[in-house]
Amino acid sequence: MSLISLPNRIGRVAIVGAGPGDPELLTVKALGLIQCADVVLHDALVSEPILSLIHPQAERIAVGKRCGRHSMSQEEINRLLVAKAASGDRSVVRLKGGDPLMFGRGGEEMQALREAGIDYEVVPGVTAATACASYGAIPLTHRTLSRGVTFVTGHGMGGEPIADWHRLALSHHTLVIYMGVARAGSIAAGLMAGGLSAETPVAIVSRASQPQQQVVTGRLAGLEQLAKDPRVQTPAALIVGEVVSLHHSLDWFSADLLGSEVVQQQFG
Ligand code: SAH
Repeated sequence: MSLISLPNRIGRVAIVGAGPGDPELLTVKALGLIQCADVVLHDALVSEPILSLIHPQAERIAVGKRCGRHSMSQEEINRLLVAKAASGDRSVVRLKGGDPLMFGRGGEEMQALREAGIDYEVVPGVTAATACASYGAIPLTHRTLSRGVTFVTGHGMGGEPIADWHRLALSHHTLVIYMGVARAGSIAAGLMAGGLSAETPVAIVSRASQPQQQVVTGRLAGLEQLAKDPRVQTPAALIVGEVVSLHHSLDWFSADLLGSEVVQQQFG
């Protein structure tokens, strides 16, 4: 008998966005759920300070994928999630980096839970694009420079290159490219083939909102080279568009870090 035909729905899962790394960027709702959960299944992207908020007695399961090395397939994660929730008496949190429904396969997990007759709720998180924008001091839209923004992945479903970058070569438009560092060269070539100027400002923001955050900037023609800069770390997102030119005058994060180092030197 399929679980879906049971008269009463069983179990409940919270699919929770953990944001970009700084625990203070969790929503109040996410914090409450993380602290009270009996079981937490989390991705590799979830930062250590956030994982430390999980109750010490809770069951903590890393199901993460990192750098193409899959520790568990999505199907295995779905099955485990259903199995943990199906016992019914324990609160289960599926904790995902950023926002669960932004390149996070949260939709597939919702489908698996729905098929199994398990209730769920989804708690949004701060996604990498907005974190990179705020902490990297790069407005995603700005009067005169950008009328819109597109969030896009740097590679196709099986990791294959995407061929239609030229379609995204729009003027007065910002692109935020997730998972694009490894394909920076072909992305830049595609955008330039579509008519975007080689001089278009670009940035790579690594580990947005975390103390190790780095922002490197350059021009579209040099994006491939920029991606090889040793300051670029995982995870990182690419931002392409005139708005990047505002970064140097608006940066507040590096000044803040510098300030706290000076204070530590004085009082430490
Ligand atoms: N669901 C996540 C995205 C998962 S895809 C979200 O909403 O943010 C993973 C990609 O997200 C990484 O390859 C990188 O491009 C981006 N990313 C995630 N966290 C990031 C961070 N703290 N700083 C910069 N980019 C990040």
